[in-house]
Amino acid sequence: MGQHGRASGSILLGLDGFEVTAAEVIDGEWQLQVQTTATVVGCVGCGVRAEAHGRRTVRVRDLPIGGRPVVLCWGKRIWRCREPACAVRTWTERTAAICPRAVLTERARAEACRRVGKDAHAVAAVARDLGVGWATVMGAVAKHGTPLVDDAARLEGVAALGLDETTFLKATRVAPTQWVTGLVDLEGGRLLDLVADRTRAAVAGWLHARPRDWLAQVATVALDPWRGYASALVVPLGHARVVVDHFHAIRLANTVVDQARRRTQQATLGHRGRKRDPLYRIRKLLLVAAEQLTQQGRVRLRAGLAAGDPAGEVAAAWQGKELLRAVYRAVGPAAARAALERFYRWADSVQIPELSRLAGTVRAWEVEILAFHATGGCSNGPTEAVNLLIKKVKRVGHGFRSFANYRLRLLLHCGVTWQTHRTARLRGRSPRFVA
Ligand SMILES: [Zn+2]
Repeated sequence: MGQHGRASGSILLGLDGFEVTAAEVIDGEWQLQVQTTATVVGCVGCGVRAEAHGRRTVRVRDLPIGGRPVVLCWGKRIWRCREPACAVRTWTERTAAICPRAVLTERARAEACRRVGKDAHAVAAVARDLGVGWATVMGAVAKHGTPLVDDAARLEGVAALGLDETTFLKATRVAPTQWVTGLVDLEGGRLLDLVADRTRAAVAGWLHARPRDWLAQVATVALDPWRGYASALVVPLGHARVVVDHFHAIRLANTVVDQARRRTQQATLGHRGRKRDPLYRIRKLLLVAAEQLTQQGRVRLRAGLAAGDPAGEVAAAWQGKELLRAVYRAVGPAAARAALERFYRWADSVQIPELSRLAGTVRAWEVEILAFHATGGCSNGPTEAVNLLIKKVKRVGHGFRSFANYRLRLLLHCGVTWQTHRTARLRGRSPRFVA
């Protein structure tokens, strides 16, 4: 490589303080010989100009160039101090761009973290692109991601807090399903944190770790009425209005429809739902909001119920779900109250065990359900949006085993604001006009 090639190669590499002295493609990978541009250095002990004392080559992987993995062969300079009075003998040069014994350059580690965190790419896929192992990438995610997640500023400005449970590990033959609780900023639509378990203690522990003024800012808390979360809020968030939001209430109602369908399937067919069973075939349609059903969907729903629900219990549960939805769709507290009465009357008249249980829960949480209207309809959107993101990360990470990794990756994907490169402005504002 000539002088010209060396200069342009170094520009393309774009690694501050380094220059490329040779480049070739070996086995499909770029092998770049690089060295630092520092040729005059002082002794780290006494400051006397150091003398070159040979080199030691280390190999690290860097960001791919044109989709090709890159290996940097860095001829690390070894320096020697000739000052007799100095205690320092020899040392190897260091750089912030490549940590000692690193497999990847720091910028490649940062990029690995961005791809796994922000873009939710699989660790294995990023590892393959960089030509390193899974653990190397996960190590980079932890190193560069942890400071982003630990940044206290990340949690600032929460006025409406949402609590929602999600599965972490599905039950296996030897272990029950493990749950985690997500804490969501309902206005910003971001995941604030994830705590292991879905117990009162888990949430209480998290809240107690928050500063007093942070807690004081939270005016509304939306939660799942099925869980014991509410009592965790009593002390730290006693001032906040507790709301059972649309999202959680409808999820409970959907569960009731599912339970009634399963029970009816078992009772009428003697087995769990199978592909051709009429109720099984409409299991998803049953959960669709009535006003969102297409004409064809309505026809299929009616036909499925006619064929598979002789006692009309699934249909009655479905009606109960729609009546509870109407409470949330009502305009204003008075209309919501009236809708709630219609729901109760229906549940009392049809006497479906699953629906009666739901009515009991709704009665116990009536104030919090009606509070939905008093808060101007504390939105369910953010919780649902975050849940979708969580699903995406889970799908990519198929089978997390470590809660710490799981939390880190979810927070990096739905809880961190990533800095994006800002486009340089061609014409800035003239300083004269700045007040
Ligand atoms: Zn020295």
